[in-house]
Amino acid sequence: MSQILHRSIAGGYPTAVSGEGVWLIDSDGKRYLDGSGGAAVSCLGHGHPDIRAAMHAQIDKLAYAHTSFFTSQPAEELAEHLIARAPNGLSHVFICSSGSEAVEACLKLARHYFVERGEPKRIQFISRRQSYHGITVGALSVGGRMKDRAPFKEMLLQGHHIAPCYAYRDQRADETLEQYGLRVADELEAKILELGPETVAAFVAETVVGATLGCVPPVPGYFKRIREICDRHGVLLILDEVMSGMGRTGTLHACEQEGIAPDLMAIAKGLGAGYVPIGAMLASSQIIAAVRQGSGAFPHSQTYNGHPLACATALAVQQVIERDDLLANVRRQGAHLERRLKERFGNHHHVGDVRGRGHFWGIELVADRASKTPFDPALKLHARVKQAAMAHGLMVYPMGGTADGNAGDHVLLAPPFIADAAIMDTLVERLGEAVDAAI
Ligand code: PLP
Repeated sequence: MSQILHRSIAGGYPTAVSGEGVWLIDSDGKRYLDGSGGAAVSCLGHGHPDIRAAMHAQIDKLAYAHTSFFTSQPAEELAEHLIARAPNGLSHVFICSSGSEAVEACLKLARHYFVERGEPKRIQFISRRQSYHGITVGALSVGGRMKDRAPFKEMLLQGHHIAPCYAYRDQRADETLEQYGLRVADELEAKILELGPETVAAFVAETVVGATLGCVPPVPGYFKRIREICDRHGVLLILDEVMSGMGRTGTLHACEQEGIAPDLMAIAKGLGAGYVPIGAMLASSQIIAAVRQGSGAFPHSQTYNGHPLACATALAVQQVIERDDLLANVRRQGAHLERRLKERFGNHHHVGDVRGRGHFWGIELVADRASKTPFDPALKLHARVKQAAMAHGLMVYPMGGTADGNAGDHVLLAPPFIADAAIMDTLVERLGEAVDAAI
């Protein structure tokens, strides 16, 4: 019996012992196709020789130096690399160890910025229902998955939620996709006005919704309207690209496809591709200028900030992605994956929607395709699909629907950027078998 406090205390997981490219291998020698990159993490696959070499080289020089004494070459080079490719206006990086920490840093820097500017009443955050931003108390406070929040609700910061941009379930028959997007974006303005603009610090959203809805990209025009509303009311825009960023959707940042830039952005997962725990916050020059003219410091630091080994590894990951033009592969093989998913599930009675971008796809499972009726959450269909997929040698990332029926069970796919057409074919074939076996 494992003494690790796993997600499920019952444990019962196979033991992973090695990884080769898109495959993970357990202690019985069984091979699993990593169709979800774990949780959209392993974008370079496993055991990449160039990343192993970069890690060895760095560990031979310096593993760790505390940032209250030193900066380090890997941290400086990673920051330079990220800022050179960042959305417009982002000029500084805070390097931490996870996605939750990156989100937490965004929330606190947003608050700190308004204190520095002499607007201390701006303390409220607005986010979206059915979103996920991490597990720390701040990140959970803006998260919109009510089931995760429930046991901790008395501990949470004040958070306000508006609708997600989720056309499959919420678009009305009498509106176009664009009209739908503007309608839900305008909920932000209504909420800001209700709370009083002088009290609102920031709006937080995943550019492409990941785990909670199963990969839901925004509709055209949605984020442009969101950006306009934030600007009109002096509210900061925080984009959470922990899951959807760093190339996952075919561009380095998912927001590039929306034609907007945030004031603060959280990245993680694909940044270090799972070789090391690493996350980062990117902040705008306007925010940094206010801090510089104010107290001159952001009072938020951690022991492992800018960890040299983690930074050298993440830099190597990003350099390999660029050197091997892997985002072109994501766009090419992503289109192939989309075709294969739509062929296999486009008319499946229990698949209501197939959606995504690049190497980031989701299918939503429904009891009845025509009425979009979700399965009863008590059936835990998502867990059955996961179990069936593992039996078929496939890793996918499923999640249950909401109790109120506003979202069905879904399965998220996030294959490594190195996957070729044959791997995508195997992935879809095994997923089809798993879904049919589970229902
Ligand atoms: N934000 C998003 C969008 C995520 O998907 C996740 C993790 O799945 C997080 C934040 C939290 O990241 P971590 O689990 O590394 O703390």
